[in-house]
Amino acid sequence: MSPPMNEGLVFGLIGDPVDHSLSPAMHRAAFAALGIPARYELCPVPADAPGEVSREMRRLASRGGGNVTVPHKAVAANSLDEASETVRRLGACNCFWETSRGVVAGANTDVAGIRRVLETRGVGRERGLILGAGGAAAAACLALSELGVSLVVVSNRTTARARDLAARLARAGVAVAVTEEPPVGSWDVAINATSLGLRGTDPLPLGFDRCAPECVLDLVYSHEPTRWTVAAGEAGLSWIDGREVLVEQGAACYEFWLGIEAPVGVMRSALFGDGD
Ligand code: NAP
Repeated sequence: MSPPMNEGLVFGLIGDPVDHSLSPAMHRAAFAALGIPARYELCPVPADAPGEVSREMRRLASRGGGNVTVPHKAVAANSLDEASETVRRLGACNCFWETSRGVVAGANTDVAGIRRVLETRGVGRERGLILGAGGAAAAACLALSELGVSLVVVSNRTTARARDLAARLARAGVAVAVTEEPPVGSWDVAINATSLGLRGTDPLPLGFDRCAPECVLDLVYSHEPTRWTVAAGEAGLSWIDGREVLVEQGAACYEFWLGIEAPVGVMRSALFGDGD
């Protein structure tokens, strides 16, 4: 249930950090194209203040809704009155709204966003490699599972965390394997779900000398293609920009927030420019 439009809708992004996010530009362009008088705010909530997440979600939900990003997706999932099936399986929520006064519902649109992007690009469904073991990695595992990828392998700096993720996913009916060795061999798709690439000094999440994915998807995004996707292109690999997932996960929110279809083309242009 959304508040009447003439009161002015307010949406926001809760996380830490949020100032690098491209979500405001994307959603503001969408609201303008739809003729909806709505704001999209950045709502920084420090990592060490998770108690503020629920309060901020309720404030925004009563005025429209919002998104949640690193590191608060798990706290957000636990703050909901009504959680979608995907939120229950992953324990992570990135999209919330109000269904009736004071009742906050949440979904995880990262999974649908990743799945849709991989489907559109027609990536192979035999072998998928996930780098990382946090919330984005969990969403990527579920997306590959929903696509019917036969073998999904997780590789993470902290192997124990990868094992925890595999155990949690197994309880949700999703089978993934964990590797302790640096990944080698050929893969239909390799997905960077670490936070490597946010800083210019970061090493690449995976080199391509001993590992040859058909396609790489970098969930980390910037205003430009990331160094990892550029390196993939130079190695002759097919690659997908994380902004594609940002668009699709953002577009999936409009059905929940407003009960309408999102202007995907407008959102894409806001991130890539009209010429792309
Ligand atoms: P998270 O839960 O904090 O997980 C971060 C992951 O990165 C962990 O696996 C961590 O490994 C790994 N990592 C961090 N520093 C590392 C380093 N120096 N070397 C190797 N591994 C390192 O974060 P998240 O929620 O999964 O998000 C990850 C990234 O995906 C973020 O940049 C986020 O913005 C992005 N994302 C993008 C989209 C999109 O729409 N494009 C959607 C969702 C997420 P350890 O376990 O060893 O610490």
